[in-house]
Amino acid sequence: MTLDISQIRKDFPILDQQVYNKPLIYFDSAASSQKPLQVLKKEEQLYLEYYGNIHRGAHFLADKATNDYEAVRDQVAAFINASSREEIIFTKGTTESINLVAFSFGEAFINEGDEIIVSEMEHHANIVPWQMMAERKGAKIVMLPFDESGILCIEQLDELISNKTKLVAVAHIANTLGTINPVEEIIRKAHEKNIKVLVDGAQAIKHIPVDVAEMDADFYAFSAHKMYGPNGVGILYGKKELLEKMPPYQGGGEMISEVTFEKTTFNELPYKFEAGTPNITSVIAFGEAVKYLQNLNIEEAAAYENELLEYATKKLKEIPGMIIYGDHAKKSGVITFNVEGIHPFDLGTMLDKMGIAVRTGRLCADPVMDHFKVQATIRISFAVYNTLEEIDSFIQALNKLVPMLS
Ligand code: PLP
Repeated sequence: MTLDISQIRKDFPILDQQVYNKPLIYFDSAASSQKPLQVLKKEEQLYLEYYGNIHRGAHFLADKATNDYEAVRDQVAAFINASSREEIIFTKGTTESINLVAFSFGEAFINEGDEIIVSEMEHHANIVPWQMMAERKGAKIVMLPFDESGILCIEQLDELISNKTKLVAVAHIANTLGTINPVEEIIRKAHEKNIKVLVDGAQAIKHIPVDVAEMDADFYAFSAHKMYGPNGVGILYGKKELLEKMPPYQGGGEMISEVTFEKTTFNELPYKFEAGTPNITSVIAFGEAVKYLQNLNIEEAAAYENELLEYATKKLKEIPGMIIYGDHAKKSGVITFNVEGIHPFDLGTMLDKMGIAVRTGRLCADPVMDHFKVQATIRISFAVYNTLEEIDSFIQALNKLVPMLS
C-alpha cells in the first residue's frame, strides 16, 4: 500500500483537534465527509479573486468563473466515464438529482397503472420522490426485498418485473447495511425488458470506481459533500437520449432559450435542467475534490477502507451483545449496530463525550429499521483519513461504556 495516511490527515486540519478534551475521532463520513485544504482553498480563491455570476456576464470575472464551472462538468464526465458533458447535470445533491428524475421521467414516461421497483434498503431520498410521483401519476411502487444478511433478493426481480414496470431504483451501496449491490446485473436484467434503472451512488462514489458506461446505468446520482467535496452540489448523470425526452424540472434562469408571455422555449442539455444561479463556488471547488480522489487512487483508498471495515467488524464482534446489521461479504464503508440492552442514543451520546463522532437513529431508512424491527441504531462509517488506531480507541471506549450502560 502506498497511501500515506498521516500525510493525508494533514490535508484535513479539522481532524486535528480535541472535543471534550479528547482527540476527535470522526466516524461519520457516510453522513458527510470532511473536506481537504485543496477544496477549501479553491472556494477562498474564487471569492477572493474571480467570483462572478456565470454564463450571463460579459466581463472578465464572469468569464473566468464560467470557464471553471464548465471545466468541472468535463472533469466529472471523465471521472465517471459519461459519453458527453451534456449528460452531467449539476444539482443540490443526490436528493435533488433523484427528485429531478422522479418528476421529469415521471412526466415523460409514467402513466396510470405503471410500476416502479424500489429496493427495501434505500435511503428515504430514493423512496419518497418515487412515491410522490406515483401518487401524482396513479402509478405503483413495488418493493424489492433484502434478506437477513442485508443482501438484495435479486432472484425475485424476474417475478417482480411486469409489463407495467418502467424503472428500477436501487442504491449502489446501502447507507445502512453497507451492501455493495450488483447493479450491473440488475441493470442487465432490467434492460432485457426495456426497463430503465436509476442508481443512487451517494455512498459508492468515494469508495468504488464508477464507470457509468460500463455499468450501463440510465441515471446515476451522487453528492459532492460525501466525497470530500463541498456542500450544496450534486450530480445527476443521465443518458442523453433520455434527458432529451424529459421536460425541465424547474423553470427560470439558465434553462430557458426564449420567453414570451405566450410561450417559452427551453435551453439545450445540460442547461435545460439547471434553472437559476447554481452553487457556483461549490461546483468549482468540487473540481478539487474530484482531483483529490483521483490523486488518492480510489482502488487503493477502497482497499485501505476495507481493511478498516474488516478490522472494526472483527473487534466489534468480540463485544458481548453486539448485533451488526448487514454482513454481506461485499460490503463497504459503514457498520450499523446495536448492543443488546443499551439504547443507541445513550451509547452515541457517551461516545460523543469521549470525542468519537458516530451517527445514531434511523439513518433516513425507516424500511431497513422496520425490517430488523429496531427503533434506532448506531452507525460508524469510514473515509480514507481514518486509522486502525482510531478503531482501537473506539473499541476501548465501547469496552468501558457497554458494561456501564447494560
Ligand atoms: N442516498 C443515500 C444512499 C445516502 O446515503 C444519502 C445521504 O445520506 C442520500 C441519498 C441523500 O444525500 P443528500 O442528502 O446529499 O442529498
